[in-house]
Amino acid sequence: MDALQDRIALIFGRFAGQIVRLRRKEGATALPGLVGGLISKKLLYSLSQNMADGVVTISGTNGKTTTTNFLNLILENAGFNTLTNTAGSNLERGLISAYADAVNAWGGYPKNKQQVGLFEVDEAELARTFNQLNPRVSTFLNLFRDQLDRYGEVDNLALRWQDMIKAKGEYGSIVINVDDPNICRLQECTTGEVITFGIEDDNLKIEDLYNVKDARFCARGSVLKYDNLYMSHLGQWRCDCCTVFRPKPKVRAQNISLKNGSSGFDLVIDDIRHKIIINMPGLYVVYNALAAAATAYALEVDIDLIASSLNAVKPPQGRQEIFLVDQKEIRILLTKNPTGFNETIKIIMPDSESIEVNLLAILNDGIQDGEDVSWIYDADIERLKKYNIDLVCSGIRANDFALRWHLAGINPRLVCSNIEESLDRALDNVPLGGRLDVIATYTAMLQIRSILVSRSRKADYEII
Ligand SMILES: [Zn+2]
Repeated sequence: MDALQDRIALIFGRFAGQIVRLRRKEGATALPGLVGGLISKKLLYSLSQNMADGVVTISGTNGKTTTTNFLNLILENAGFNTLTNTAGSNLERGLISAYADAVNAWGGYPKNKQQVGLFEVDEAELARTFNQLNPRVSTFLNLFRDQLDRYGEVDNLALRWQDMIKAKGEYGSIVINVDDPNICRLQECTTGEVITFGIEDDNLKIEDLYNVKDARFCARGSVLKYDNLYMSHLGQWRCDCCTVFRPKPKVRAQNISLKNGSSGFDLVIDDIRHKIIINMPGLYVVYNALAAAATAYALEVDIDLIASSLNAVKPPQGRQEIFLVDQKEIRILLTKNPTGFNETIKIIMPDSESIEVNLLAILNDGIQDGEDVSWIYDADIERLKKYNIDLVCSGIRANDFALRWHLAGINPRLVCSNIEESLDRALDNVPLGGRLDVIATYTAMLQIRSILVSRSRKADYEII
């Protein structure tokens, strides 16, 4: 009876998705899951059980989509048949939709060799869906303060994850970022396999502890100490009161070099070393690559193949993308929380104070952007104060953003809520062959991208 009900649920879910896609060209990702989920409550569980090679979940505040993309590439090269959800559709409905889209018209599921479900799962949704997904490997990236209008504090989420892993039993490996103290603690909650990853590079240090606020305390309430801090609260931490310290990771990055728009590092697994270069700048790219490598390792993928796949990575669209319009380069940097903003600031920071930076900063406050925009005050914009910046502020909350920049000592040349007009005025001051950096929240990124696509005639992508 249950199996029949699941099959009916899938057929209706798939049908609903097709209808919506016929009527509108985009935005059909959640409906099949909603329809299917209404008909069968255990749908996600039975669908996950159908994956011959199990389910992999990727969760954390930052880097889910990039990590999933990296891992997908590795697994496809390793001969896996992956079934993934669309970026952003990472709630239960989105997961069911991913399955519903893959079934045939009779609700049957094609049985392929090495079929693996690879899902990015919203960090607040994971505890609720974990039992149903019953993952073979679950990967935990990080926990940052993000969109507090939706979730509770980081600590509550960490505690829910601990309970979830304690309840899961022997089956399934966990892959954890030991540089994040909250994530590292998860290893104490399981008797199953644990694969650790992290950065080991003494030459890499951020300037001060200004940003450490997400995981400052140990379980007993003492302030954690950092021998080396890489990014936000990620680093080589220790607590003297309970003699707990960050363990040496199994999968690690050494000799990191972030320059010329790329991220280079030595990937070390089982003391085998591979040189990796990915054409996307930023330390978070290194973390995402490490997470993908460690997860592939947990799935017993060959280490040489992991390395060669990472070296073949292409930047995902929209997150950081470059357009060429009228001999001027326009680089979009998706920025949606303080940690991401601090990384964006590092990327746009020029090598010397004499170089002018042309900047268009767009702040929207839609649901997908986070309706509470106070997070812009948690980013360290002040670090840009000493540079020569030509700034235009735009978006629905252009005035709020302009005030934030002003308080950081950088006065916008223009404040204008119309994005297209702001783009033109920002481009006015960019020399031929020069570059305009665009900082944009999620919906702002979609808007500016669609303008740039039509101007540069670059192929569009499916809006997520
Ligand atoms: Zn302690």
